[in-house]
Amino acid sequence: MAIIKVQKGTKDILPQEIESWHNLEAKALELFTNYGYKEIRTPIFEATELFARGVGDTTDIVNKEMYTFEKSDRSITLRPENTAGVVRSFIENGMFRQPMPVKLWYKGPMFRYERPQAGRQRQFHQIGVEMFGIAAPTADAEAILLATEYLKSLGLNDLTVEINSLGCPECREEYKKRIKEVLKPEFDNLCEDCKSRYEKNPLRLLDCKVDSCKAIFERPQIKAVIQSDFICDDCAQHFKTLKEYLDAAGVKYEENKLLVRGLDYYNRTVFEIKSNNLGSQNAVCGGGRYDSLVKNLGGEDTPAVGWAMGMERLNSLLPSIEPKKLDAYIVSNNMPEALKLAQELRSKNISVEFDLSNKKFNKQLEKASKCANYAIFLGEDELKNNYITLKNLSTATQTTTTKEELLNIIKNI
Ligand code: ATP
Ligand code: MG
Repeated sequence: MAIIKVQKGTKDILPQEIESWHNLEAKALELFTNYGYKEIRTPIFEATELFARGVGDTTDIVNKEMYTFEKSDRSITLRPENTAGVVRSFIENGMFRQPMPVKLWYKGPMFRYERPQAGRQRQFHQIGVEMFGIAAPTADAEAILLATEYLKSLGLNDLTVEINSLGCPECREEYKKRIKEVLKPEFDNLCEDCKSRYEKNPLRLLDCKVDSCKAIFERPQIKAVIQSDFICDDCAQHFKTLKEYLDAAGVKYEENKLLVRGLDYYNRTVFEIKSNNLGSQNAVCGGGRYDSLVKNLGGEDTPAVGWAMGMERLNSLLPSIEPKKLDAYIVSNNMPEALKLAQELRSKNISVEFDLSNKKFNKQLEKASKCANYAIFLGEDELKNNYITLKNLSTATQTTTTKEELLNIIKNI
């Protein structure tokens, strides 16, 4: 019978890889907690409308990439990102009544119907933070600092932080108009996606990955408009202060005027963190400020800033971590005694296994040397005379000891 395989664009995370995931999660829990963040777990599916209204119905994510299905006349979507879900929960649970800022973090699977390739899956995992209630650039700076500190804690130091300001909806209008004007003569040469972006959301043109479009945006006259300083005084001041804070915190960054991000909800600060070691899917982190999203989804007007990192991309930058060995393996043919000793050691938080199928002594020892740091021999003689033989499997030294001493020795591995 043909075997059933994992779906295209999805992957099993196997036991031999799981230590790397635990490492990402443990470091996040520790550091994010130190920054005052609390974890939130929202459902993996939400009403489709949440993403249409939240992420924006002119974005690639909503237009092309969502897993949407009908159930009992309702349109449901597997979350393609988690900011919209966290904002929904923030509103629904009345979190705007808490003292600001409210700081939340999450981790979990996201779903996007994209062409699978290196660094791009259909089910992938993100870890991210959202901070509500602070309009000042201190929040943007602290959020970016948290991202860089987290990456540093994982041992990733050679990444580039790119920042830009998209201004506010008011100053962006003028910019959009100017971009449309200068691109008008080139309209027919734009890719099909850009043709539709031209009307619906001209800022998204700058995010186009098609070479022929990128070449058009590089022409001096067009580039001059794209790179022009369009943001209003307030937005410019916000951006300037953010940069001062980043300098003060020692965060290195580059300004990238073409950085617009693929989601509609951003205003003012946007940023990405990129690696040179990831090929074309080189962004590990993306984020920014989204001051109008809470209101757009029906909540109190609440400024917010956040980011998300791709956990698969993080893992691919890190050396793999060897699976941990057991502390000990009991070699014995006396099942009740082995079971009792295992129980006792486990209750002292020592990881231990023993042979459950009564194999020959040699086979048991072979297994012990593969999977444990110590072998504990519990043979006839040991049981009769009430002692234990302990073998350190990395040095091959063997000692006899008592059950009480055993705990001390193994615990101090
Ligand atoms: P990209 O430009 O690579 O498509 P994006 O702008 O769509 O990224 P975001 O929505 O900002 O990505 O998501 C934040 C992070 O999540 C990305 O920087 C990336 O590390 C990761 N990510 C996004 N889409 C995928 C995917 N399909 N597979 C694996 N990781 C992904
Ligand atoms: Mg994308």
